[in-house]
Amino acid sequence: MRKITLIPGDGIGTEISRSLVKIFESAKVPIEFEVENAGLTVYKQTGELIPESLYKSIEKNKVAIKGPITTPIGEGFRSINVSLRKKYDLYSNIRPVKSISGINTKYENVNMVIFRENTEGLYIGEEKFEDKEKTSAIAIKRITKKGSTRIIKEAFEYAKKNNFNKVTVVHKANILKITDGMFLETAREISKQYKDIELEEMIVDNMCMQLVTNPQKFQVIVTMNFYGDFLSDLAAGLVGGLGIAPGANIGDDIAIFEAVHGSAPDIAGQNKANPTALILSSIEMLKYLNLNEYAKKIEKAIFKVLALPNFKTYDLSGNVGTKEFTDKIIEFL
Ligand code: NAD
Repeated sequence: MRKITLIPGDGIGTEISRSLVKIFESAKVPIEFEVENAGLTVYKQTGELIPESLYKSIEKNKVAIKGPITTPIGEGFRSINVSLRKKYDLYSNIRPVKSISGINTKYENVNMVIFRENTEGLYIGEEKFEDKEKTSAIAIKRITKKGSTRIIKEAFEYAKKNNFNKVTVVHKANILKITDGMFLETAREISKQYKDIELEEMIVDNMCMQLVTNPQKFQVIVTMNFYGDFLSDLAAGLVGGLGIAPGANIGDDIAIFEAVHGSAPDIAGQNKANPTALILSSIEMLKYLNLNEYAKKIEKAIFKVLALPNFKTYDLSGNVGTKEFTDKIIEFL
């Protein structure tokens, strides 16, 4: 049995993690979950936002799957998600965006993967007021050659392995000439090593427009942390929303799989969350662990359920609850 760290999270995290465990048990996946949580609930019990035992578990198991964790807006503690990505240098945030049969949206045949740099940019948390009166504030955006090189390489390697012939680099180098300029220049340099893959350059505002007018033209997208955050939510919306958007945070040594969405406090505890995003993230995890047979088995069952007419979760305009949706997947397993 392979041990994996499971961080249930909070809000809908608890509910969708429960689905995940039930599905893995039914599919007899040879994985044992070591449950360790983080966040405000843990802080209230232990006085620690991220307990030492969680770090130890991740460092031992090397692979984790995580539910969403609430981050207070404005004041309060720094995002636990950002802290974990930074601590373990999980520089690739990979978000596949694919049309799913049975989910009615304005767009069909969308198939793209977004590579978002996960450790730099505006998310380094370096902000300060410039005057005593607090009337002016700045945030630092850090882009490095090393950080740009490794995420862009990942994107090209992924394109090569998965038979995509175009990588789109998204930037704002017309304004941010040094930071975004370096990212773009790095993409140009790396693309020379991949003769069969076209490099497309796109300014981020134009990219937003093109994503909603013609999303089918994109294959692999690579961008900096800030733009990647927005573009991946936008792209998730094209194929059915956050409830079905999986993600992965991958470094050289450790990987943490998680859905794109947050803790959805508006529907938490109401049996209304769609567990699909977390289940699809877990399928990516099984592939990463070379447990392909189990990945396929669960994938087949969940896509069968998603294709059922009149069996939709609340986010997809239906009235099927988290538990009922999970039980249906188990039935198909
Ligand atoms: P959110 O993703 O939690 O919710 C946005 C909207 O999408 C809500 O209406 C919600 O009900 C819906 N939604 C999201 N996931 C869904 C699902 N699985 N099924 C059905 N509907 C779903 O975004 P938010 O409201 O901006 O953020 C809430 C909290 O989550 C914040 O504290 C934020 O910091 C945190 N957050 C955490 C992560 C993470 O842990 N990786 C990611 C994003 C946001």
